[in-house]
Amino acid sequence: MVNIQINFHRAASKFLNFGRMAYRRKNRLSVDAYVSGVLAGDRMVLSRAVTLVESTLVADQALAEEVLAKLLPHTGHSLRIGITGVPGVGKSTFIESFGSFVTSLGKKLAVLAIDPTSQRSRGSIMGDKTRMEKLAHDPLAYIRPSPSGDALGGVTHKTRETMLLCEAAGFEVIFIETVGVGQSETAVHGMVDFFLLLMLAGAGDELQGIKKGIMEMADAIAITKADGENKDAAKRARREYQNALHLFPLASSGWSPKVLTCSALDEEGLDDIWELLLEYQQKMKESGYFGHRRKEQNRHWMHEAIRYMLMRDFYTADSVSGRLAGVEAVVERNEMPAMMAAKSLLAAYHEGQS
Ligand code: GDP
Repeated sequence: MVNIQINFHRAASKFLNFGRMAYRRKNRLSVDAYVSGVLAGDRMVLSRAVTLVESTLVADQALAEEVLAKLLPHTGHSLRIGITGVPGVGKSTFIESFGSFVTSLGKKLAVLAIDPTSQRSRGSIMGDKTRMEKLAHDPLAYIRPSPSGDALGGVTHKTRETMLLCEAAGFEVIFIETVGVGQSETAVHGMVDFFLLLMLAGAGDELQGIKKGIMEMADAIAITKADGENKDAAKRARREYQNALHLFPLASSGWSPKVLTCSALDEEGLDDIWELLLEYQQKMKESGYFGHRRKEQNRHWMHEAIRYMLMRDFYTADSVSGRLAGVEAVVERNEMPAMMAAKSLLAAYHEGQS
């Protein structure tokens, strides 16, 4: 009886494994099929390529790298825009309205997100496409919810690679959204051409949770909800922020950040923001800064990738993970200096590698 049960379990698990493998194989295309599908702008293939890039399976990652390497010459031809602002500032409504404005010009738009909270509550920020109902049904728009990831920063790499896939698929404008509470803005700033900060009128900076560092990164600030009774307050805020920005040192691009007002509900001020983006793009291309910054960003991401891979290898190595908690406890109790503890863990790691 026991034997029969064991055999049954074996057979069942064999069957399931076979099923899984077949499923996996069925869901993976050849490198050339991914490449030609993406280049043809086939959304289904694009989505599958993004899923591949987001996968944590080693075989998928190798395939994704090949696909990306082949697509790389076809990337770079978009305007990459980072959009940030604290929850409640009106980000989704703005992206919906401004995104629709952009597609109304005949431009293909991709909306991606870096969402540091997605690990805890998946889809809280970008997952629900219903947040952008109109855009989600717009044939010129492509919305991709943010991937969940590990704590070491792998998510931002995946968003950047997704952006490259979208460019290869012919998307001309890319929005990358963050939540604006200071965790991912630097990463987004490092992958976009233009960084747009959304702010509310009548709420202090502290209240808005916006750190000075984020304001310093902004190429433009848009005061949102400039409609109805809020219009005057928005105009006042615009002057105040413009004055505040003058106090910051001039950016190396030579661009002085602008402050605008807009209403996503009334669809006002969106054209001004678009004009500003185009002005920025033109000026920066003329000065050579546009290309210079992208080169710098490429280099930066290579170093980020090295940092990420080293950290991941280190923390997932058996020689480290088995010791880590014990060494942490020793350091907490001040029984060993942090530097010495780090060195001992690194030594254990190198030993484990040899
Ligand atoms: P998010 O959390 O930053 O994504 O903000 P939402 O887009 O969800 O908007 C938060 C609230 O502000 C919602 O109740 C929106 O209806 C409101 N809101 C967004 N944009 C505007 C606007 O342009 N004008 C006004 N009056 N309200 C807005």
